[in-house]
Amino acid sequence: FNENMLNMINWELEISASLPEAIKNHDLVAFYQPKIDTQPLKIIGGEALVRWKQSNGRYLAPDQFIPILEKNGQIIDVDYYIYREVFTFIHNHIIEGRPIVPISMNVSRVHLLSHDFLRYIKSLFDEFPIPPRLVEFELTESIYIRNSDEALILVNGLHEMGCKVSMDDFGTGYSSLNMLGAIPIDTIKLDKAFLKEDFSDNDKIIISSVIDMSKKLNMHSICEGVETESQIAYLKDAGCDEQQGYYFSRPVPGEAFDALLENN
Ligand code: C2E
Ligand code: CA
Ligand code: CA
Repeated sequence: FNENMLNMINWELEISASLPEAIKNHDLVAFYQPKIDTQPLKIIGGEALVRWKQSNGRYLAPDQFIPILEKNGQIIDVDYYIYREVFTFIHNHIIEGRPIVPISMNVSRVHLLSHDFLRYIKSLFDEFPIPPRLVEFELTESIYIRNSDEALILVNGLHEMGCKVSMDDFGTGYSSLNMLGAIPIDTIKLDKAFLKEDFSDNDKIIISSVIDMSKKLNMHSICEGVETESQIAYLKDAGCDEQQGYYFSRPVPGEAFDALLENN
């Protein structure tokens, strides 16, 4: 036991204790990162990513608080808050006649054990009557492996509501390949770990095989973490449907995302 561990424990306690107030004060903010179709170049979607606004005006990145909140279950409050923000965002665009694209939201593995998730999403659709095609969900690969029965219920439930589902972080776990046959997901999201500065021939074979496989399975493919022109060109060649990454845009606040959409 040392000072570092004490600091860590204090940080965890602080995060956990200040979350309810942060949610009430709207200090949690949804940022949006565009998803791009490269031919023709166009924003065809967005991903909502949570940020925590601090009293000094700076934003805390999800990696600094999500793992803590996943341990004690409070991530559910964060996700529900973000989902509500996203539904509100989409709904406002529709009411005001402004351009909008499908927005995807991340689903923590903790939801699989809570059984309340589908009911909550249904209640959002009751409250905000928006076309279900504008709402998508990203479930990280390891969810499907560790809780495949629960994952299947969740994916089927989302499909019944008309929402698309993707397998996020594809390629970071192991044995997710056999899950692809068992769970009817719509999109494979290749993890940024697939992308290197320079692709070796083997890297290229692996990426293009995953993309080919997704096509044969009638699934959509998207690659995250795209930062360079050579990555863009390669993914385009390999037939990847969509791309997402800093090269196109970092995750940005709602108003900045709107500006990107207006000039789309
Ligand atoms: P993720 O779902 O895999 O999201 C992709 C992460 O990669 C995001 O980090 C994004 O900002 C970052 N990224 C995007 N483009 C690039 C790029 O070109 N290069 C690099 N190096 N990184 C890029 P972020 O926003 O820090 O989020 C980290 C993770 O936190 C997410 O990974 C997701 O697992 C989780 N997360 C974020 N928001 C939420 C949320 O509302 N709910 C839940 N449950 N998890 C969330
Ligand atoms: Ca994601
Ligand atoms: Ca990822």
